Amino acid sequence: MQAFQDDFRTLAQFGLQADGGVSRLAFSKADQQARSWLIQRMHQLGLQVQLDAAGNLRGRLVGDQPHLPAIATGSHLDSVPNGGHYDGVIGVLAGLEVVRRLRRNGQHLARPVEVINFAAEESSRFGIATLGSKAITGKLTASELEQIHDEQGNSYASLLRQAGGQPEQLQHQRLNRRQLAAFIELHIEQGPVLEQQGCALGLVSAIAAASRFRVRLTGRNDHSGTTPMPLRRDALAAAAEMVLAVEQLARDIQAETVATVGRLSCSPGVMNVVPGSADFCIDLRDSDASRKERLTGQLQSQLQAIARRREIALHIDLLSNEQPVVLDSQLRQRIAAIARRHGQETLSLVSGAGHDAMQLADVVPTALLFVPSCHGISHNSTEQTALADIAQGVDLLYASVVELAQDTGTI
Ligand SMILES: [Zn+2]
Repeated sequence: MQAFQDDFRTLAQFGLQADGGVSRLAFSKADQQARSWLIQRMHQLGLQVQLDAAGNLRGRLVGDQPHLPAIATGSHLDSVPNGGHYDGVIGVLAGLEVVRRLRRNGQHLARPVEVINFAAEESSRFGIATLGSKAITGKLTASELEQIHDEQGNSYASLLRQAGGQPEQLQHQRLNRRQLAAFIELHIEQGPVLEQQGCALGLVSAIAAASRFRVRLTGRNDHSGTTPMPLRRDALAAAAEMVLAVEQLARDIQAETVATVGRLSCSPGVMNVVPGSADFCIDLRDSDASRKERLTGQLQSQLQAIARRREIALHIDLLSNEQPVVLDSQLRQRIAAIARRHGQETLSLVSGAGHDAMQLADVVPTALLFVPSCHGISHNSTEQTALADIAQGVDLLYASVVELAQDTGTI
């Protein structure tokens, strides 16, 4: 893992912050430095480098049968502001390490192997996550890339052109099964489950998706001294009861369901006035689409009951409703079997966060491999994963790529 560690230390310099974290927003100067470095590294490893029409950097190791669909691996090098050094990075560097080992071992492969750095995975700059993987898998058009802007008004397409890309070629470059046979992403868990279970490797069965709601409550502003308790229509007290109902609803499901109220405000926001209006947002996530649907219904009827009892007017707006992604179970079982053969244990788990893998999953059989995050911390400058755990992930990734790239049948 010496070369991996050297690469890790080099990359960490691009966008390094005073607090030790990293700010490498998509297509920022720091991200461009990281991308230039990656192109150079890919060339050094003998990969054919391509900047695709969505902005992703792809390095291809040609196999004995170059026309066969490739086995791809990778993740992202961009970060959130003041983020950690492991999120995304280890997946790209693991891909380089796999190529290095293939070369060192003189390993012959039938299929090509591709290492991908997906562009703009984090939503921090453009407000949309997994932009590069979303676009190259056909979920965005070239003209939509012109319409996606950062806060300064720069379009994604214009930044991509400045980086040497050709967004107008997007429709001709959509990923399909003639180019890729499978995709495996290695990523940090960004949660506490693996550490808690004492397991170094996780295999993701499904990626949860969020439904988001905005709830607006209208009661009546009243004098806090003269209005007796039974006569109040306190919107904030109603909101408080609803927040607890949201929490209880998710707690009662014995699954990975999570529900969060992360923002709440009330007005007039004065100490001696009973608050007449309140406004909050709910983020409900589940890996099971039908359960999420059912919970949404329960949530609405519970909030309605609270509002009715308290004589509060209630408006619920659905802000977004994303669909959970179930990953290919055959590929997952195959990788679990490869792990067992190498004496490694894997834990099946659900991902609460989105990843590039979820965009690839409807195009090719896709696997998402997790290594533990210390204390479950991520999107934070103190984010960390033990080198020994990363090494386990790289070992399994390598063994999986070798097996799949030698398999010329349908994966
Ligand atoms: Zn990530």
